[in-house]
Amino acid sequence: MAELVHTPERPGFGCAVCRRPWPCPPAKVQLSEEYAGDLTGLCVYLSAQLGDAIEEAVRDHNWGRVDDLYDRFVSWARRPVCWPQAEQYIDRHGHVGGSGTE
Ligand SMILES: [Zn+2]
Repeated sequence: MAELVHTPERPGFGCAVCRRPWPCPPAKVQLSEEYAGDLTGLCVYLSAQLGDAIEEAVRDHNWGRVDDLYDRFVSWARRPVCWPQAEQYIDRHGHVGGSGTE
């Protein structure tokens, strides 16, 4: 049986499968696998979703702060959930890190 793909529903960006706020933990795993080794592609995709979410937030006035949306949609991808090299990541300044400390 095929694995269900955890995708965002619109409006509201809840997960179509598990109803949690998207990207839910399974979506993060699936996206990390789909974009394995392509952090740029993953961030481009997530940023596009973030842009749509901000549009909804502005239109509906009920989503909270935009920087919270950035954390929810994009910042987790700095250390994707299941990449083989997950112990190593490149921080926002381009430095290669490894311990998980900010
Ligand atoms: Zn889900």
